[in-house]
Amino acid sequence: MRSKIVAGNWKMNKNLEETEALLTALSAKLPDTQAEVMVAPTYVNLNTSVRHLESSTIQVIAQNMHFAENGAYTGEISADMLLHIGIDTVIIGHSERRAYFGETDEILAKKVTAALAKNMRVMFCFGEELEDRKSGNHFAVVESQLKNALFSLDAGSWSKIILAYEPVWAIGTGETASPEQAQEMHAFIRKTIAGAFDAGIAENVTILYGGSVKPANAEEIFSKPDVDGGLIGGASLNADDFVAIIKAI
Ligand code: PEP
Repeated sequence: MRSKIVAGNWKMNKNLEETEALLTALSAKLPDTQAEVMVAPTYVNLNTSVRHLESSTIQVIAQNMHFAENGAYTGEISADMLLHIGIDTVIIGHSERRAYFGETDEILAKKVTAALAKNMRVMFCFGEELEDRKSGNHFAVVESQLKNALFSLDAGSWSKIILAYEPVWAIGTGETASPEQAQEMHAFIRKTIAGAFDAGIAENVTILYGGSVKPANAEEIFSKPDVDGGLIGGASLNADDFVAIIKAI
């Protein structure tokens, strides 16, 4: 049985006080759920967030990390630094990292390898741009993103991988992929992984959908058989909305 996950990516939002207030509200309202619930606060608030949630089932994860062990990489954070404060899951490949910070497939492959070498879980994000979908290239783009970053992994690493399909045209735009479009792509992703590795790996990997998931559309998207939960941006910044999305899984 693969895990269900609802994860909130808080991006560059919420100062320390606001972070603690949101964590308190979330903890108080957290419904009973079989799903893993994760939040990704900004770096400066990760340590406090881990301490704040010490007695909670909500997991704190990181939005990014560098591939190097340590050294002269001003402004960057290593896997060991995350592990040292109790964080063992990291988002890699978010479309904003790709678009605004020049993270190529090659860089992302190095980050994935570095995180796995430290036994971390990787939430790997990928997805096509609007032009790719309009030109019917979306399957090829997704396949190449997966291939470039993940297909040279050994089969055993897949238990540490969580996939997050996020069509770029649906992120922060209010535009959501229809539940059918999400299902179609998730099924394609599973088929592609089955072809490159094996059917067991494809069946067991958790595939999240991300892109303008809201309380109003979460249940329908999550009801699709190959959608195992969501990576939530904007709606995870509000405790009531995030809790409603968790309830939808
Ligand atoms: C995201 O950035 O991962 C995301 C899905 O954002 P939003 O939910 O705001 O579209």
